[in-house]
Amino acid sequence: MKAQPDIAFIDLRTQQDRIRPRIDAAIARVLDHGQYIMGPEIGEFERQLASFCGARHAISCASGTDALLLVLMAWGVQRGDAVFVPSFTFVSTAEVIALLGATPVFLDVEPDTFLLRVEQLDAAIKAARDAGLRPRAVIPVDLFGQPADYAAVREVAAREDLLVLADAAQSFGARRDGANVGTLAPATATSFFPAKPLGCYGDGGAVFTDDDALAGIVESLRVHGKGSDKYDNVRVGINGRMDTMQAAILIEKLAIFADEVERRDRVAQRYSAALADVARVPVVAPGASCVWAQYTIQVEDRAAFAAHMKAAGVPTAVYYPTPLHRQSAFRQFPVAPGGAPDCDLLAARVISLPMHPYLAPADQDVVIAAVRAALAR
Ligand SMILES: *Cc1c(COP(=O)(O)O)cnc(C)c1O
Repeated sequence: MKAQPDIAFIDLRTQQDRIRPRIDAAIARVLDHGQYIMGPEIGEFERQLASFCGARHAISCASGTDALLLVLMAWGVQRGDAVFVPSFTFVSTAEVIALLGATPVFLDVEPDTFLLRVEQLDAAIKAARDAGLRPRAVIPVDLFGQPADYAAVREVAAREDLLVLADAAQSFGARRDGANVGTLAPATATSFFPAKPLGCYGDGGAVFTDDDALAGIVESLRVHGKGSDKYDNVRVGINGRMDTMQAAILIEKLAIFADEVERRDRVAQRYSAALADVARVPVVAPGASCVWAQYTIQVEDRAAFAAHMKAAGVPTAVYYPTPLHRQSAFRQFPVAPGGAPDCDLLAARVISLPMHPYLAPADQDVVIAAVRAALAR
């Protein structure tokens, strides 16, 4: 008998098999024209990306981290500025703030949705002011693929004159309150890291905005702060371009992305229906959709749970085991009044299950049975 193939945590191979001839042709076209930097696929991909989400501008760049950095640079975020971020996130969200010499201020998250605790923002702003910092911006994170509560953030931001940058590295393709990710904040950053819902075959990212002036500055900053050309340097920038090859690949992947988002949601709905009585399953807020960058449950004895899943042949992963305010590189930065106790709790309890658009119902059943057995003991 043929051994059962292992269940993949994230399966990039089945997707590649689906579109391999188109990917091969797209790469061949780049090899033929030879414009590896800022070739014609860059503009084409940016047009398609903007139209997919309805943003006025989509500006491709070298990574999700650069997308965040470019926006903060364009806004002139600098030493003495406070930028508010959730502590339960990937390191990039806070890293870009510290790189510019500004101060990340860590907030807690909601334990059911994993999203920024917006009600903590007012106290955080006041504490930052009392500490002599200038409150400048907030970076809500659409963790695991669900957009943060931008309506609530916008209300505080308008009153306090804060800039809002959406960290949508995990949520491109999702919606909230009738609007697409890419249009939920004045500026949005996403990532095309291979394992993200829309991933390329290397590093890539994009900035979305309706603001013409911001778009112009980001386009300049990503090519060394260029003016009329890259040998005319009007501001201090970075080498933050996306490779033509990645844009060519992403054009082919974007063509099937809406279908993949639906497939992901079907897997998640099935997990939730089958697991809600035994596990703490993720909550999607009213008015929101989720693209399920991760399907993350919470368990009390995570080590035992993970061992049981492994023995059952089901891979799992922990995002994230340590909140940023406890990382050696970020410990010295302030935490909002009230602290971030739910970030600590989640860091101890979260565990993500296999999730990708091509997870067959039979494999979903194996995952579901393994989770139920692990939690029934
Ligand atoms: C992946 C990720 C990033 C960074 O994206 P890269 O393309 O890897 O630089 C930033 N924020 C969050 C929340 C992410 O998950």
